[in-house]
Amino acid sequence: MTQSADIQSIVQQVLLKLSDTISEPQRGSVCDVDKYVADSVKAQEVWHRDFGLDRRCQIIEEIRADLRPHVESLARMAVEETGMGNLRDKIIKKSVTIEKTPGPQSIKPNAISGDRGLVLEEHAPYGVIASIIPCTNPAATVIHNAICMIAGGNSVIFAPHPKALNVSLHTVQIICQTLAACGAPDGLVSALTEPSMENLGKLMKHPQVKLISATGGPGVVQAALTSGKPAVGAGPGNPPVVVDETANLDIAGKGVVDGASFDNNLLCVCEKELIVVNCVADELKKRMFENGAYELKDKKEIELLERTVLNEDHTPNKNFVGKDATYILEKIGLKVPASVRLIIVETTEDHPFAQEELLMPVLPLIRVADFDDGLAMALRLEHGFRHSAVIYSTNIDHMSRMAHEIDTTMFVKNAPAYCSLGADSDCPVTLTIATATGQGATSPESFCRMRRCVLSGAFRII
Ligand code: NAD
Repeated sequence: MTQSADIQSIVQQVLLKLSDTISEPQRGSVCDVDKYVADSVKAQEVWHRDFGLDRRCQIIEEIRADLRPHVESLARMAVEETGMGNLRDKIIKKSVTIEKTPGPQSIKPNAISGDRGLVLEEHAPYGVIASIIPCTNPAATVIHNAICMIAGGNSVIFAPHPKALNVSLHTVQIICQTLAACGAPDGLVSALTEPSMENLGKLMKHPQVKLISATGGPGVVQAALTSGKPAVGAGPGNPPVVVDETANLDIAGKGVVDGASFDNNLLCVCEKELIVVNCVADELKKRMFENGAYELKDKKEIELLERTVLNEDHTPNKNFVGKDATYILEKIGLKVPASVRLIIVETTEDHPFAQEELLMPVLPLIRVADFDDGLAMALRLEHGFRHSAVIYSTNIDHMSRMAHEIDTTMFVKNAPAYCSLGADSDCPVTLTIATATGQGATSPESFCRMRRCVLSGAFRII
């Protein structure tokens, strides 16, 4: 064996050993919540005390580097385990999350310099964070939240969705391997192996868990909000897209299909209903057909689709959440080309396709007489979630009015809603959009608490 092969083999053995010790607490047979929290408390103290901003930046760069080779396998694992979404878009989602989730560099102090001295405000860690993860974006949310939370000096215990347990644990394991190789304390990032409601309750109530981050539907957000602790509540949405008579229909036709079909509409920000001014509706549909939309017109076929993708109480049938458009159409007896990405159906406002957060590539199209009617309908259909909305228009007054009145956390003009997450746009990536608690597009600062120090009569330089 040459000297370099020798060294390589030693490094391999050390890494394997590390991966054993890292994986043990995650795969252990007993999920002892108290032990997770105790380890997390110790790790956070060391991380906050001994790992300064420069070191945290370096380690987070290592995490990004080590995750890159796993993008495709994690995406594949997420699709296979959950049976939702599509490989292509999951790869995009993970790649942008790895590259564009902000790290410690984004944390900025405030300084107030005045006649009486200097005031310094800094973003301090909360301590141990419990981060509850959805099944719709499991790996990407783990990556985003882990980077943001440890960038802010916290430790994190993830509670994965049972339906996405393996891919969530595997993502955590990759991150833990890097942390261990960098000398970070054990337990800084961990994940419950048994995320039962009982264990989730224990974790959320544990006195040493200082912040709850809940990314998911109304139930988990409500649980976080009533936990008696500070919370980051990232809840459901029902984002409307309005297309008015001044819109560039080439841009709108492609943008709506790209947005509403992205990862089979699994993202909370994805366009969930299309409200279009009547005089451009037919033309818009043509452009959508050119970009992979397929319209169901036949009354019987529409009824069959309703019976297939909705439960009796009109909520979405989970078996069809995040499925391909071609799969859904096949289930109602229609064979269409593989290029079909989105199903559109003309409905009225009260139809469950418009009222419910379907999370599947079925987009109701509702005609309105003019922009005023469209805006009023968009406000109603957003249900006050203050989540996301989109407009296609070239009328500045319309764009400004809708932005102001709909009051959503994310608002996108003339592009797919996923641009607000940082994909195909210039903003940092977020996968936890804190709608219910107001932090908005979360970043490391969202998982920190503000501390203030007043230095009386000193430290000014002017
Ligand atoms: P879900 O609410 O079923 O599950 C989310 C997580 O919460 C899971 O880990 C689950 O185990 C846990 N959970 C569920 N009910 C709970 C309760 N009562 N107490 C404690 N924990 C509970 O959601 P999902 O199907 O995994 O994800 C889809 C939903 O999440 C959609 O509504 C979507 O809009 C929303 N979402 C929002 C954001 C955002 O950033 N705002 C991001 C992703 C998903």
